[in-house]
Amino acid sequence: MMTIDYEHCTGCETCAQRCPKQCITMVQGEFDFLYPEIDKERCIDCHLCEKVCPINKDKPSPAAQHAFAAIHTDQAILKNSTSGGAFTGLASAVLKGNGVVYGVKMDDFIVHHVRIDVMDDLQSLCGSKYLQSRIGTIFNVVKEDLKDGKQVLFTGTPCQIAGLKSFLGEEYENLITVDIVCHGVGSQDYFNKFVTALKNRYPDAREIQFRSKKYTGWSCSSGVTVMNDGSKKPFYYHENYYYQFFLQGDIYRKSCYTCKYANLDRPGDLTLGDFWGVEKLKLPLNTYNGCSLVIVNSEKGRKLLEQTENLAIEAVALEAAVERNEQLTHPSPLRERRTQRLQEYKTKTGAEIEALYFRNDRMSVLKGTIKKMIPYRVKVLIRRGGGMIH
Ligand SMILES: Cc1cc2nc3c(=O)[nH]c(=O)nc-3n(C[C@H](O)[C@H](O)[C@H](O)COP(=O)(O)OP(=O)(O)OC[C@H]3O[C@@H](n4cnc5c(N)ncnc54)[C@H](O)[C@@H]3O)c2cc1C
Ligand code: SF4
Ligand code: SF4
Ligand code: SF4
Repeated sequence: MMTIDYEHCTGCETCAQRCPKQCITMVQGEFDFLYPEIDKERCIDCHLCEKVCPINKDKPSPAAQHAFAAIHTDQAILKNSTSGGAFTGLASAVLKGNGVVYGVKMDDFIVHHVRIDVMDDLQSLCGSKYLQSRIGTIFNVVKEDLKDGKQVLFTGTPCQIAGLKSFLGEEYENLITVDIVCHGVGSQDYFNKFVTALKNRYPDAREIQFRSKKYTGWSCSSGVTVMNDGSKKPFYYHENYYYQFFLQGDIYRKSCYTCKYANLDRPGDLTLGDFWGVEKLKLPLNTYNGCSLVIVNSEKGRKLLEQTENLAIEAVALEAAVERNEQLTHPSPLRERRTQRLQEYKTKTGAEIEALYFRNDRMSVLKGTIKKMIPYRVKVLIRRGGGMIH
């Protein structure tokens, strides 16, 4: 029976899905992230959970990698995507070929992996949901699709992709995996507390869209709260304590601070991220409304990118891409503030945490208020000059 490594367990849920006795349940641990718990009475000591756990496996080492800047040519899609809309381009190519796509959806504030097979459902997977998505038993569903011969595109954090590959245990020609550049995830329960506070203000709220481009363009400055009738209320990062703590790296899962994928050892066939600083490369692309960084890590990944229509693509030097994306060189630093956030969370309601935030984090709120006053076009000019501004 395995000993749970609470420092490095990513919560990928691979062990729970692999256990032949179904005696592993995911239960809440630190910060209410989910960790496996083994029912010792039913465990038969087969060690399959240990063998399948990606923590115990070597890191992937892609042979030859190539980087690209990519932008969806449909402006509506580009504006709805977090970066350059590369995900929608890739997913559309798979769906058009009668394949299936797995990605992350937010339903009534719950974030989880789902399977889609029609274009109409694609929109629900777009956009970054900044908390750990629940995998549940979806790896089994993926396996069924693969055995049925369907082309499968699976997207997720690198630890989830590593989990899926380990779960499958063999190469499938019809599987293409996309990992996202990932600085960390917040927990569903931490987010739930925030949602309770939010609903005091907006009882009709049904969804949060982080990283909306509508008010502040391609940046991390703002998002929107979506109401039951579809109307949207904007928020700026300094007005939303969950978003602020997330962006500061205060509330991630413990494993995120030593993440073994915060480099070019990518488990996916393709890697997607924000191509921050792309303006400085002076490519023949209009990057004003966002630009994706796409890293091709395998032949399968290269083929899918080539098949993809509606993406304007420019090859770039891999070093130039890495230089501009911190998360490809080192994990998020673990700051002392995380302990304070954890204490607040254990003892306070969402509304109380929010009140504390506005009282104790005045400098962050003030900085946010000043940045809010700078027009987006000026911020882009600052970015072109080399400075990164949320
Ligand atoms: C938690 C998280 C942290 C990130 N950190 C960074 C970073 O540090 N640096 C960086 O360059 N990029 C980061 N990204 C990736 C970036 O924000 C975009 O998701 C990526 O560039 C794809 O954007 P797009 O425009 O191609 O498509 P979009 O339409 O924005 O793509 C959405 C894609 O992200 C997947 N997704 C959404 N939420 C989650 C989730 N919670 N877990 C797993 N997959 C999810 C969807 O399934 C879909 O495949 C992060 C994304 C997430 C979700
Ligand atoms: S050792 Fe085998 S039976 Fe026991 S928890 Fe692990 S996978 Fe399940
Ligand atoms: S398989 Fe995933 S969830 Fe299970 S112990 Fe390993 S890292 Fe944690
Ligand atoms: S930072 Fe690493 S460990 Fe954390 S969710 Fe992302 S890929 Fe997984």
